This record gives sequence, structure tokens and C-alpha cells, in this order.
Amino acid sequence: MSSKKIDIRSLKKNELIKFLNDFNYEPYRAQQILSRVNSQQIDSFEKITNIPKDLIQLLDENFFLSNTLIHQFQKSSDLTFKFSIKLHDNLIIEAVLIPTEKRITACVSSQVGCSLDCNFCATSRLKRIRNLESYEIYDQIMLLNNESLKSFSKPISNIVFMGMGEPLLNYNNVIHSIDLITGNQGLGISKKKITLSTSGIFKMIKKMADDNVKFNLAISLHSGIEETRNKIMPFSKSFPLKKLIDSLEYWYLKTKIKITFEYLVWKDINDDFEHINALVKICKRIPSKVNLIEYNSINDERFISADQTWIDNYVNSLRENNIQVSVRRSRGKDIDAACGQLANKH
Ligand code: SAH
Repeated sequence: MSSKKIDIRSLKKNELIKFLNDFNYEPYRAQQILSRVNSQQIDSFEKITNIPKDLIQLLDENFFLSNTLIHQFQKSSDLTFKFSIKLHDNLIIEAVLIPTEKRITACVSSQVGCSLDCNFCATSRLKRIRNLESYEIYDQIMLLNNESLKSFSKPISNIVFMGMGEPLLNYNNVIHSIDLITGNQGLGISKKKITLSTSGIFKMIKKMADDNVKFNLAISLHSGIEETRNKIMPFSKSFPLKKLIDSLEYWYLKTKIKITFEYLVWKDINDDFEHINALVKICKRIPSKVNLIEYNSINDERFISADQTWIDNYVNSLRENNIQVSVRRSRGKDIDAACGQLANKH
């Protein structure tokens, strides 16, 4: 592979059309090429049988074709599957397939590792190595979809960007991957079935609202009190809660899409009425619902799940204020596939 060559799948369709045009090939050739290179069925341009030989040669001279492959997988006792996926440069990411009666959810990664430092999340210990390319995110989803068809005879119905990484720190590639996956060559899945979860990169939340993205937004809040949030998610000192809240108001104003707050309750961290009231206050300001997620231990003694009474107190207070709340049971715990446990352990 010559160093001058670029990965063909990093090109957008109009860029490929322009390239082809420079060599006098018609625009429809771009679609023929892209549908094959995105099919997960070919590993060289030669295998594109419906284009002329000289075009294959031109592609070979200018591009390479990368592969994203399932490296390993583990199956949980609750039928959650965790996949290790190997990228073209041998780095590994993880993705999870979560079947329930009504839906099959693909939980996907947006970065190799993560640059944020949420103290309760295993991925933060990996550090960020690089962003995923749009087609790598796309591949991940297509691979999970193939597995879903094989194991459950159904395609995936929902996609959540809740795997490794902070999707809003890889914004362009994430958006492009969503365009690919919702398009005809992908799964044609509706954007309403996609949720992007962020720790709260407020500038990008505003940008998403301006870009009219149409998918759902989840915020890893965990505390409505700045001081606590800064302790458990130190990066948030540079991303103040007030600015986050402002950006969420802006999001709702522009999109009219309700926000989901993801929230964990820990002993001696946020199991008190001060925190409950702070959360209620935020939810009253911003049309939203709350998912209380079960904490999955990552063996850090600072974090211990709060007693059930406190979960009940949260639920009751939110309901009393007419705020929708659900308590999420964790899936895939026995294979470290649950929220916050993705850390390339096998
Ligand atoms: N960076 C993004 C997406 C990845 S995390 C974000 O922060 O939203 C996906 C969800 O899992 C987040 O809500 C995160 O706060 C939560 N999470 C992290 N560690 C966890 C753990 N140990 N147990 C349960 N949930 C966890």
C-alpha cells in the first residue's frame, strides 16, 4: 500500500463523483463503486464486476479499501452479545447487540478509547487513541446487523451511540456515519431510532440543533449540582453545567425533541434530596425524561450503588413533578458489556 493512497471509503459520494469526472467517468459509476465497497463483501476493487477494467486500475492506483472485522465475540447469559471489532490498523473497539422482546439495539463506539475522564467509566482508563472514521462506524453497525439477522432473524431496530468514546468530539464522522446508515445503501433506518449520548459538549449540542439532525439526544448528567459533577467527571470543569443547560434549552427550542437524562445514583455522592431537587429543577426547565441506570461496578471503591430507597426517592420525586422516569436494568454485565464497562477486556 503506497502512502499516497487514501481509503476510498473516507470520500463522500460527491467527492468521488468529482474524482471520477476528472478522469471522464460518469457520475453513476460512483454509486456502483460505493455500493460494493460498503457491502462488507469485497476486499479488493477487482471484485467490483460491473465497472470497466481501466476504472478498477484507476481505483487501485489512487485508493485502498479498508476492512473492519469481527475479532471476537462473547455472549451473555441474557443474550447480549459483545463484539471486539478490529480496525484496519489493528486497533480494537467494542460494540454491543442488545435484544429485547420489542427491539434489537446496537450500541456502538465513536472513538478508540475516550479523552474524557468520567471516574466511574472503564473506557476513560483507555485514553483516546483516535477517532473512528465514518465508514468504521458504519461498518460496526452493518456487522452488528448481520449478526442480528443470523442470531435473531431480525435486523437491528435501534442504534445508540453509547459505546466507547464521546461522539460529539468526533462530530463530523458520526454525522456522516448516520447519513450512511439511514440512507439506501445502509439500513434505511429512521433517525428517530437513533440516540446519541454525550457527556455534555455544549457547543456541539448547539451545533446539532442548528444542523437539524433529527435523532435523539441523551445526556449523561449524573448530577444537577456543578460541584459534584466536577468531582465525578473532572473534564466538566471546562464544560460548566449552566452552559450545558443553556445548550439543552436551545436544542429543545430548535428541534422540539425531548432530551433523555442518563443518571446513576451512588452512595454518598448523589443519594440525597439536594441532588434530587437539583435534577427536578433541571427537568422542569427542559422538556425531558430521566433514565436511572444501574451502576455497573468497575472496581473503584469511590463508587458504590446507592440503596434502593434512594432510587425510589428519585422516582417518587420525579413522578410527583410529572417528570417521566424509568429505571434501567443492566444488560450483559457478566461479560463486561454493560454501560461503562467497555474496556477491551477479554
Ligand atoms: N461519552 C458518551 C457515551 C458513552 S457512555 C456519554 O458520556 O454519554 C454511555 C452511558 O453509560 C453514559 O450515560 C455513561 O454515563 C454511562 N456509564 C458510564 N460508566 C458507567 C457505569 N460504570 N455503569 C453504568 N453506566 C455507566
